[in-house]
Amino acid sequence: MDHIVLPGATLGILGGGQLGRMGAIAARRLGYRVHVLDPEPDCPAAQVADEHIQAPYSDLDAARRLAIGVRVVTFEFENVPAATLAELEKHVPVRPSAHALEICRHRVREKQFLASHGFPVAPFRVIASLEDLERGLAELGVPAILKTAEFGYDGKGQRRIAHADEAALAFAPFAGHTAVLEAFVPFDAELSVIGARAQGGEFRAFPVLRNAHARHILDVTRAPAGIAPALEARARELARGIAAALDLIGLLTVELFLVGDDLVVNELAPRPHNSGHGTIEAAATDQFEQHLRAVCGLPLGQTELLRPFAMANLLGDLWERGEPNWQAALREPGVRLHLYGKKEPRPGRKMGHLTALAQSADAAEALVRRARSAL
Ligand code: AMP
Repeated sequence: MDHIVLPGATLGILGGGQLGRMGAIAARRLGYRVHVLDPEPDCPAAQVADEHIQAPYSDLDAARRLAIGVRVVTFEFENVPAATLAELEKHVPVRPSAHALEICRHRVREKQFLASHGFPVAPFRVIASLEDLERGLAELGVPAILKTAEFGYDGKGQRRIAHADEAALAFAPFAGHTAVLEAFVPFDAELSVIGARAQGGEFRAFPVLRNAHARHILDVTRAPAGIAPALEARARELARGIAAALDLIGLLTVELFLVGDDLVVNELAPRPHNSGHGTIEAAATDQFEQHLRAVCGLPLGQTELLRPFAMANLLGDLWERGEPNWQAALREPGVRLHLYGKKEPRPGRKMGHLTALAQSADAAEALVRRARSAL
């Protein structure tokens, strides 16, 4: 049955990082109130929320307090204990559902789900022992990539294995945890598709995004992706099919490898995604609002791109020689600055991003890179 939560109501967000912050800003723009649960004091989302419940995600009492104060709960990240999800679901609708989260936050369940529904994934093996890894390397060949099943992000918890004789060394940090070994995909490009699925099943995807990573962390995203219309349509259809198979309500991000003319699914995220930040300036509806529309049972917004854009992440490394020169970047016409309110600029930590709008994705990328260099 539809559960419609109209503006004016209070929403709950699990996780108070930058995704929660931008989600809370979108919620407030729509007239909602926002309660956030996050263990960190003064986290990015707490700075813009009406209430911050500061507690670990495993604190069931805190989860209950969040649930009874709001009309619906959503997430900014998936690594929430199952017991917390179960506690939330006792009191309030949780969107996306615990079932969808359980699949997307565990690489083994995710890959098995995708493969069993016929969605394209790289050949993989489940690894629980050194023997599994040795057998896996023999079967899949090298190079291959070993990834933890849980809690991995931004390249954390993964290792590229170039030779079979590295198995023991590579396995050591994974001992005692379930992992996935994946065949290396010699991709021509990395793409992502972000789409929202509404309560009634309607699905709307944003235009496909093209991503470039540096040190396993997303560096620059641009759109349009510059791919053939038929491929663009296939990527969106793939995302629609996966969202339907998950029976997901809310936003789904599908990270893809493009290999020749083939699409291979790398990873799913049942939420807004770093590659979609440019939709704030460049799309008819931004990804954060679209997620809330789906979660709250409101009509989905238009997803077309109003202008080509490029987005560049700002990592803590930029602070190495002091505060970046914001004036210099903001002087570039068409460049917008987003900072997440994080106090400690650690290397590799996502502190903010820049978005540039231009006549073409090429021009936007040149502009956003120039603006970031000027920092
Ligand atoms: P992930 O954490 O799985 O999103 O991986 C982070 C990045 O590592 C990806 O965006 C790719 O650039 C690279 N990567 C991950 N898995 C593979 C693979 N099987 N083949 C080639 N590159 C990969």
